Amino acid sequence: MTLVDTSLSPSIGRALELAAGELREVAADIHHHPETAFEEHRSAGLLCDLLERHGFQVQRGASGMETAFIATAGEAGPTIAFVCEYDALRGLGHACGHNLIGAGSAGAGIALAAALRESGLGGRVKVVGSPAEEGGGGKIPLCHDGVFDDVDAALIFHPSDRTIPVMYALACTHWRWAFTGRAAHAAADPDQGLNALDAFVHAYNGVALWRQQLKDGARVHGCVLEGGTAPNIIPERTSGEFLTRARDGAYLQEMNRRFRAIFAAAAEATGTTLELEERDSYLDLRSNPVLAERCTVHLAALGLDPQPTIPWDRVGSTDVGDLSYACPTLHPEVAIVDEGVSCHTHEFRHAADSARGYDALIRGAEALARTGADVVGDAAVRQAVRSAFAMQPGRRSEWRGSTV
Ligand SMILES: [Zn+2]
Ligand SMILES: [Zn+2]
Repeated sequence: MTLVDTSLSPSIGRALELAAGELREVAADIHHHPETAFEEHRSAGLLCDLLERHGFQVQRGASGMETAFIATAGEAGPTIAFVCEYDALRGLGHACGHNLIGAGSAGAGIALAAALRESGLGGRVKVVGSPAEEGGGGKIPLCHDGVFDDVDAALIFHPSDRTIPVMYALACTHWRWAFTGRAAHAAADPDQGLNALDAFVHAYNGVALWRQQLKDGARVHGCVLEGGTAPNIIPERTSGEFLTRARDGAYLQEMNRRFRAIFAAAAEATGTTLELEERDSYLDLRSNPVLAERCTVHLAALGLDPQPTIPWDRVGSTDVGDLSYACPTLHPEVAIVDEGVSCHTHEFRHAADSARGYDALIRGAEALARTGADVVGDAAVRQAVRSAFAMQPGRRSEWRGSTV
């Protein structure tokens, strides 16, 4: 009788040791050539080449996005997805460390696929390349097209100033707005003008007053990109962007109705016209507790010293939220800097290209691969993950209605 060895950790460790140099090189290359939303051609190409070298079948482009990819290895059976991000921030390069997420998830996939091959356990690994996390939300069309429907667990880690197994994230809507009025001589004929800057001031004050009535954790914030052209011209056009955020999709929808009303009222009050575009919306993040428990064990065993998560402490938003409604998902954070240095800063960008950052990449990948191995190798874990997901409240369609 042949005994199947379900402890894959040693072979995962060996595979990562072998691939570590390549993974660091790819992560550094992506960092040194930052590409923003849907422009990540070079970065996606590097990851696809890497995965092909390690025996993955790679589909370049997916769900109408040229910079998405789906790489698969292994046989039919329990399936683990490792999700890559690789987009940079506008004007700030890889200050969110997505170069480490890209190479980290690819590394986890390479290691688990190698370990499964060695063990004869069966099972499949999917490495999914998801563009535009910082705005655009590549995971949303991928989820919509069923890329994660056959997945038992989706795993991805985010670099951070702390190591925690469970990350919280707010549901979020990204808005573009513009007011159009009429230009006039600001001294000679002010009565002939329709002031688009006044319209924005109305809207901004409306948001500022509204903020005090919002539920805990809700956020509304934005910026002006066009505010007028000269002091002696009544501003004809103003435009900018806003984000509304809430702890769940249902409350976000409620907020969004009021947000639209505030902007519409400002246009009405000033006689201007409003264009208000809802660019994209992300769901809140629902972490799978069983995956979190397994991952905590591995983060600790690898010396990453995981801390308990304080719910809703210092949260942003991510399209991993949408993923967490499509299949059981875990999105731990792994420290690459000392506590207190937040992402989206110059310091964090340097950390994403440092020896400590690259070490976190390898160990984060190892923790994810081991967590994936637990799901493939243990039917009881797999069932527990599935049960926890089935009990998770809410589906995207329940609050987005027919717009899904
Ligand atoms: Zn970010
Ligand atoms: Zn990020």
